[in-house]
Amino acid sequence: MVVDEVVSGIRRLYDYWGLWLLARLDDHARDVAVSNVGHAEVSAVKARAAILAAILIAACACQPVRVPHVVEAEHAKRIALSFDDAPKGEGPVFAGNERALALLAALNRSDIESAVFYVNSGKFERPGGRARVASYADAGHLIGNHSHSHLWLNRTDTTSYIKDIDKAEKLLDGFANRRAWFRYPYLDEGRSAEKVAALSEALEERGLKNGYVTIDNYDWYLDSKWKQAVDEGRSVDVEALRGVYVEMLMGAVRFYDDIAIESLGRSPAHMLLLHENDVAAMFIEDLVAALRKDGWSIITPDEAYADPIAGRVPETLITGQGRVAALAIDAGLDNRTLTHLAIEETQIDALLIERDVFGPKPLED
Ligand SMILES: [Zn+2]
Repeated sequence: MVVDEVVSGIRRLYDYWGLWLLARLDDHARDVAVSNVGHAEVSAVKARAAILAAILIAACACQPVRVPHVVEAEHAKRIALSFDDAPKGEGPVFAGNERALALLAALNRSDIESAVFYVNSGKFERPGGRARVASYADAGHLIGNHSHSHLWLNRTDTTSYIKDIDKAEKLLDGFANRRAWFRYPYLDEGRSAEKVAALSEALEERGLKNGYVTIDNYDWYLDSKWKQAVDEGRSVDVEALRGVYVEMLMGAVRFYDDIAIESLGRSPAHMLLLHENDVAAMFIEDLVAALRKDGWSIITPDEAYADPIAGRVPETLITGQGRVAALAIDAGLDNRTLTHLAIEETQIDALLIERDVFGPKPLED
């Protein structure tokens, strides 16, 4: 062990000296070129520099794995859960109140001490709407602002959009476990530099932080397909649907984590986008079990937003897939490659057919 440390110390000194010498040789080459001495001498200096560089590269290649990478690996595979659009209306299985009870019980059985619910206060008028949000808060889950009316920034003027955020702030005042986090509906943070700037300024003035996601997916689409099948009187293979839900979401988690590792050089603390819907209430336990089996730990939203990417505001205006996707585009990733099963309706439809999730439409009399 001691010998290893001495060897790596000598190696570091050698590297440092080598880099210094390389820099001096470079300076010398420039001086020589500037003083107009013959090309042959410049080439000889460059050749010596190239040989030294090759030696240094070889020396670096034998270096042991650096400690920071080991530390990063220990912090990888951490993910928090968020549920948007609460309190949602009636779903294919549950009325709103029943769903809140089912979801709370499932989270409890999965030992999830804290997830965040992003709320549209405009839905408080639904039966038991406000009370449902209060029941999530009272169970220890966190409450964030998802606007009053779920407006789309792309189709709304800045002033009206900000007013809608303020309305929700007022109505969310007084809930337990409130967090000053705002999640943009449709994950649209603005498609012009002016709108992005106006909104981030408005959030800052109000002390609100961007409640970003890192993992996008169409869980809402599965829920809507289920509802449609029930409305059409088709049979539903719930076990097959459970399989599709877990497979789709695990695919999304791996997809964005791989992008993060490739583009940011590390696996950040993730924030998974889900919705307060029936697929969540029915299958969240299976998803959490699959995540844990794959080595993930479920962290709190506070822990997730303590990640350094919370302070990295993406420059790209191509939004809609969350922060990792945006930062990856900033880092040079072609946004056309940012596609996968969990955000492709045609691929989800194909999987639902392949697994025989929904039966045929009943014949009309
Ligand atoms: Zn939403």
